[in-house]
Amino acid sequence: MHFLLAKPLVEELKKTLSKEVETLKSIHKKTPKLAVVLVGNNPASVIYTNKKGEMAKSLGIEHETVVLSENPSPKEVKNTIQKLNIDNSVDAILIQRPLPRHFPEEDVLYWIDPRKDVDAFHPEQVGRLSLGLPCFKPCTPQGILELLHYYQFQPAYKLACVVGRSSIVGKPMAQLLLQENATVIQCHSKTLNLEAMTSQADLLIVAAGLKGLITADHVKKDAIVVDVGIHREGKRKISGDVCFDEVSKKALAITPVPGGVGPMTIMMLMKNTIQAAKLHI
Ligand code: NAD
Repeated sequence: MHFLLAKPLVEELKKTLSKEVETLKSIHKKTPKLAVVLVGNNPASVIYTNKKGEMAKSLGIEHETVVLSENPSPKEVKNTIQKLNIDNSVDAILIQRPLPRHFPEEDVLYWIDPRKDVDAFHPEQVGRLSLGLPCFKPCTPQGILELLHYYQFQPAYKLACVVGRSSIVGKPMAQLLLQENATVIQCHSKTLNLEAMTSQADLLIVAAGLKGLITADHVKKDAIVVDVGIHREGKRKISGDVCFDEVSKKALAITPVPGGVGPMTIMMLMKNTIQAAKLHI
């Protein structure tokens, strides 16, 4: 059994990315800068935003959080984003999700200049990804692939099953797996017999947002299982979409929650920010 821990790879990435930032600063006189727009004060969003800021700082990346009130008007949000779009010192923009319920999320995310869209939500980025053109790769799927590569598990030739079809995880995950020559089954909330699909997979990636959805019966023996789900119980306990104890006895490899996919996502945000800075030199 292999536990696909992010930590050793994160340590490696910290060194590589810090060096890249140093090079940008010394040779190109360019300090990469990430701006995060935080609407309201959702406690989880505040924690995530702070974590991004801390990681950016530790790598030498400049970071700014623009905090808007709980109920800003669309005009106020649009103006904020447009200011960041035209600010030459800002290379990367991220809108912390979730936005307040009444907000037209799609509209807001599409206001970001695609060249600064490090979360890769803009239709231009989505189109480029599906065509295999250079683009920002969405952070969570990109992080999952880097983790798999690090542990020498290559998707090519494998039957991969992705559970979930969100724009941020499920869909781009399937795209990236196809690009790496996996054969992909994509499941979602209207998939009739989930177990019949997941139990065929050599590589099972679960991003349904349902705690404990995947049991040992859903998993093929010796499969590689990646758990994207995050469920907080109380202040300390975090679990995923996969029943870790039973599935880890059957799988060949599994990502723990916490300590698997989550830390990779933030590192890929830093990587995309540096990539964005390179576009602006
Ligand atoms: P989402 O709610 O936008 O999408 C969930 C997807 O799961 C949908 O496409 C839906 O069709 C599918 N689904 C729901 N019920 C299902 C079922 N019974 N069977 C099969 N498919 C089903 O969520 P998301 O943004 O993609 O996030 C998914 C999970 O991953 C959440 O728990 C989220 O917190 C977590 N997440 C973690 C990271 C990380 O860095 N670790 C990043 C993003 C999201």
